[in-house]
Amino acid sequence: MEEIKHAPQRPSRSNTNSMESHSTNEKSQPTLFYKVDIVVIGAGQAGLSAAYYLKRYGIEPGKGFVVLDDESGAGGAWQHRWDSLTLTNVNGINDLPGLSFADAVDQTDKAIRANVALPQYYAAYEKQYKLPIIRPVKVTKVEEKNGRFLVHTNAVQFSARGIINATGTWKTPNLPKYPGWDTFQGIQLHTQQYKNAAAFVGKHVLIVGAGISAIQLLGEISKVTQTTWVSRRPPEFKAYSFTAELGRASVAMVDQRVRDGLPPNSVVSVTGLPRTPAIEEMLKSGVLARQPMFDEITPTGVRWANGHYLDVDVILWNTGFQHTLDHLAPLGLIHAKGGIQMSGRLATQVAADPRIHLTGYGPSASTIGANRAGRAAAKELIDFLKLGQ
Ligand code: FAD
Repeated sequence: MEEIKHAPQRPSRSNTNSMESHSTNEKSQPTLFYKVDIVVIGAGQAGLSAAYYLKRYGIEPGKGFVVLDDESGAGGAWQHRWDSLTLTNVNGINDLPGLSFADAVDQTDKAIRANVALPQYYAAYEKQYKLPIIRPVKVTKVEEKNGRFLVHTNAVQFSARGIINATGTWKTPNLPKYPGWDTFQGIQLHTQQYKNAAAFVGKHVLIVGAGISAIQLLGEISKVTQTTWVSRRPPEFKAYSFTAELGRASVAMVDQRVRDGLPPNSVVSVTGLPRTPAIEEMLKSGVLARQPMFDEITPTGVRWANGHYLDVDVILWNTGFQHTLDHLAPLGLIHAKGGIQMSGRLATQVAADPRIHLTGYGPSASTIGANRAGRAAAKELIDFLKLGQ
């Protein structure tokens, strides 16, 4: 990358990559920013898809766009998923554009772990398309100055005309703080930290939550040790299999929410949980004997308002995730209704600032959604910024 030092500029077309200096603090030394047209933040399915299409639509890798990712290797959130999540029990992995999962990863062993197979796939993909991924680089803050975005990181800083944010949800788990949460002397962990059930043998594990992760981990842990399951609401088990039509209907509902400026909700909250053979088996065995949510955590267990007390060694919070967007806070994108109002063909474009796209967000928070979103975001952003004309 060419490095030029100059005073802060007026907004300009910058197909030539360069370096500029901005003093972001009166007293500090000027910070050097590499100039590109577009910064993609995150290299999971959503970021890779966006990068593929930016390149395909003529934006030069490295000079015109870069992808920043805070992990040290390929795989996005998949590299951290628990060991028992294999290709047989994932919901389904959609191919990235241009290279099929089957061509990149040997799947003869169906027991291959998702946290091995997906990183292999993404690594092969990044290599095949020579995508300009810079890692590990954590974006700490994005702010606007003189019509450009200043992308602050723990390493190199960037100045860009457009942003495609694809930071997923894995880094921001929901961890509700019930009264007494900080007094508990046992182990508390979130789905995000869970690796396998072996660590809990001989312990009484309290599973919290009513989503897919809670049910799956309850099934797994209850095979090796004593479990109790609590949730605020009972899950809705539905006698259907997850069809493409149902998927489309639930995506449409989330799409409408974000277009209205509401925070996105999860697909499960829209569809309920399908009664899979694994769930049927758990219903029969009595493992799915749900108790209502407790009211207080004590040093040795949990207590309900009616005085009922339960001794537990482990509290496993399967309480979901929220989109990882803190670094965009300085841009003030939150709508009065609490979410970020979205527009564009697939609701990837931030209505308040069309130079910003969020992919893998709301209706596109799945491997198939992330793929399509990457294409729509790349195309719409290139058009809006009038790049390559
Ligand atoms: P991620 O894969 O999370 O990628 C985001 C990347 O951005 C990561 O590498 C992250 O480290 C990086 N990043 C985050 N913040 C920053 C920052 N500030 N600076 C730099 N980099 C940053 N979907 C399916 O389609 N099929 C499934 O079977 C399925 N199973 C799932 C199971 C679980 C337990 C969960 C939680 C989700 C599952 N999903 C599934 C949804 C899944 O999250 C998406 O499908 C998809 O893989 C997410 O891709 P992504 O690119 O949006 O996010």
